[in-house]
Amino acid sequence: MPLNEGHEAFLVINKLQTSYASRYGVPVIHSVDSNIFVWTYYTFCKDCSFCHDECCAHGVDVDVTNVNRIKAHARELEIYTGVERARWFTNDYTVDEEFPGLRYARTQIVDGACVFHNPQAKGCMLHSFCLKHGMDYHELKPMVSCLFPITFDNGLLHPADEVEAEQLICLGHGPTLYRGIRDEILYYFGDGMVRDLDEMEKEFVHDPSVTHIHELFTHRR
Ligand code: SF4
Repeated sequence: MPLNEGHEAFLVINKLQTSYASRYGVPVIHSVDSNIFVWTYYTFCKDCSFCHDECCAHGVDVDVTNVNRIKAHARELEIYTGVERARWFTNDYTVDEEFPGLRYARTQIVDGACVFHNPQAKGCMLHSFCLKHGMDYHELKPMVSCLFPITFDNGLLHPADEVEAEQLICLGHGPTLYRGIRDEILYYFGDGMVRDLDEMEKEFVHDPSVTHIHELFTHRR
């Protein structure tokens, strides 16, 4: 059976017990695609020797409040990244009520990767810049990057497009998407949402038919 057939068959959208707003007010999540409890991926990105940070190849959407936080450190970041600020973001903003500040820009692509990807080594330079300066990396690293390979749309928490298209190179081994990103969901949406998701996960994985599909997803890769 092709993987996608199993995937389609087990597409289950569950309502959370209540809606949960992010620490920035938006997005507000009310439902979950249960495939976040099914798909598995390598998870420990820093230790991965085979992906070459492929997930950073296309850049990322960055809400305007995050853009402003990055620009507040512009001079130090220009020195740290070696890229001048004019080359960081696309010029146009896209209006989107699910992004803090209600609009987002996108990081530019330089030499086949996000402008903030470290060209000399693995990893995100916004992340490493924060660590170097004793800052929480959430201060500058985009929310969409921190939550990847889970994302959100219209109040639904779901696997990122790369997962659903089976294009993520590290799919199929390791913890589930939810387990890999649980701490990030806790950071952005709080412990109420994580408790709600933990309960949903328990009910979901104890369904014998779902257990079968979980094994199928894991062992096909
Ligand atoms: S901001 Fe960082 S984590 Fe996000 S795509 Fe760019 S390099 Fe990768």
